[in-house]
Amino acid sequence: MGRIAYVNGRFVQHGEAVVHIEDRGYQLGDAVYEVWALFEGKLADPEGHFARLERSLGELSIAMPMSRAALTMVLKEAVRRNRVREGLLYLQVSRGVAKRDHAFPNPPVRPSVIMTVSSVNRAADEARAARGVAVVTTPENRWGRCDIKTVGLLPNALAKQKARAVGAVEAWFVDQLGFVTEGASSNAWIVDREGRLRTRDTNANILRGVTRNSLLEVIRREGMQVDERPFTPAEAVEASEAFITGAGSLVLPVIAVDGKPVGDGKPGPVAARLRSLYIKQAKATAV
Ligand code: PLP
Repeated sequence: MGRIAYVNGRFVQHGEAVVHIEDRGYQLGDAVYEVWALFEGKLADPEGHFARLERSLGELSIAMPMSRAALTMVLKEAVRRNRVREGLLYLQVSRGVAKRDHAFPNPPVRPSVIMTVSSVNRAADEARAARGVAVVTTPENRWGRCDIKTVGLLPNALAKQKARAVGAVEAWFVDQLGFVTEGASSNAWIVDREGRLRTRDTNANILRGVTRNSLLEVIRREGMQVDERPFTPAEAVEASEAFITGAGSLVLPVIAVDGKPVGDGKPGPVAARLRSLYIKQAKATAV
């Protein structure tokens, strides 16, 4: 973890960064967040993450804490102070501090803003992508507004722990009709035997992944075929490849679902190519 955190207008030592016990993010999960991948010290997919942040805040009637331009400056300053080149930038905005009451404070209070920066080891991540990762499935048990990126992540945390306990890296939620919705912290994809890509449409109750969206641009530019429709875990196992996308995982091959190998059980060429194309585009458009 980077040494410097940002809390409500101040850069402070990470170990001394604190928020009020009556912060509604802490008390009620009344907060949203964003995570940017950092390449060469720059924020990947800036437009997508800012647009989703504004949308998440708007859906919850939380004010944008500062203009997009000011926020960009503070985010970049957080990265600079931590001297992180390859990493992740975390931003959280809560409704603010108020006496505990489920209904919103009236009049509204100032939103709380925190930022942290952490490094990632890109070489280790590339090695992991070359090996591929396992996923497990778990029944979908989240609320009906997974399109809002809130800090209410308990089902995601429990699902991730279920994966971790068996050496898997991600858990895929499966809805009542038997279709994969998304991962605990990623979107889910397959490449079918005909070479067509498939990922769940965003009318479903899933997060509109920014990496997912940027990868769709790459895929369309490359003239590859993609269907935005759901798949089952069995279809993933029968597919030639599967992978996940997210600011943390980028494009990460999945080689097993619930212990069953996907395709020939090795990372495939499509995911590897999309990973490198995505990284190239993200680097070229980072700010
Ligand atoms: N789905 C969920 C539930 C997530 O938490 C995340 C990222 O954390 C994603 C999908 C991927 O979103 P993005 O590509 O914007 O990081």
